[in-house]
Amino acid sequence: MVSTYVTSSLILRILLVYLMVSRIAFAHDANEASAYTVQEIAEGNFVHEGNFPPQSLENRGDIANIGFIVGEKCVAVIDVGSSLHVGSMLKAAIQRVTRLPICAVIITHVHPDHLLGLNAFTKDDSITVYGHHRLPKQIRTRSRFYLESLEQYLGAGNTADHAIDPSLVTPVNGLLSIDLGNRVIELKSWDYAHTDHDLSVTDIKTGTFWAGDIVFSEHVPILDSNIRQYNAVLEELQKLDVQHYVVGHGSLDRPWDVLISEQRRYFRVLLREVRAAIVNDISLMDAVNTVGWTERDRWHNFDMYHRRNVTTSYTDLEWED
Ligand SMILES: [Zn+2]
Repeated sequence: MVSTYVTSSLILRILLVYLMVSRIAFAHDANEASAYTVQEIAEGNFVHEGNFPPQSLENRGDIANIGFIVGEKCVAVIDVGSSLHVGSMLKAAIQRVTRLPICAVIITHVHPDHLLGLNAFTKDDSITVYGHHRLPKQIRTRSRFYLESLEQYLGAGNTADHAIDPSLVTPVNGLLSIDLGNRVIELKSWDYAHTDHDLSVTDIKTGTFWAGDIVFSEHVPILDSNIRQYNAVLEELQKLDVQHYVVGHGSLDRPWDVLISEQRRYFRVLLREVRAAIVNDISLMDAVNTVGWTERDRWHNFDMYHRRNVTTSYTDLEWED
């Protein structure tokens, strides 16, 4: 009898401890999920503003501006964050806004902060994943390296569930319209801009342009392509009638024209000074520490990305006629 009492008392205590621990864990998850906020920047267009990079344990990879567009029939997600954790938080935020199903996930380009949360959405067969027609090749080429980098945050051997299947991507070449129910969005593939496989999204109803990383706000632009063709794309974007916009990094409340002008100025300086360095036989090793440094105080994360931009431009312009 006593031993039965002791046993049931022990079970009760274990149960109570379990309930307390699970309540604390639930409260922690609930706090974190509710801290993951989205704002409606234009009717039906919701954005989560990420922190400025770099990715860290503290920000848990929440470094890009990502979001979704809600139609009358279904929802389109635009970029999915740098981990399953971020992707799941975005999914939960969508479910807090609407009960409509997600029908499309659009990946603007291969960079991990926009891509690696994809598997939070891919278990659902009714979701179509869209990307630039060159995206599958980029996933195949780069994803092993991206998963190795992610291990720094998630631990060795803990990233297998982040592996992206390139065959999931429905390729977009040119323009593609998707009707979300009384709301048409237009996907456009660009040739050479931030990368060689950028995809932008326009919500026709509100004139909202989702630029991915083609346009940066306050964050130093990143060049993973061809600087001359990127510049031509910016010129084209400056002429667009953009009512609202979402860029991959940085604040969303500055005038569109100012953003593009600042970025074009940065590229003008880069082009001019890289060409001068090549003509004057300044080596790439020296050029990365001298070219364009007058721009340093104008941008966030300049020290992290500028040298790479000089390298990319230098190796491209070296063979210019
Ligand atoms: Zn990017």
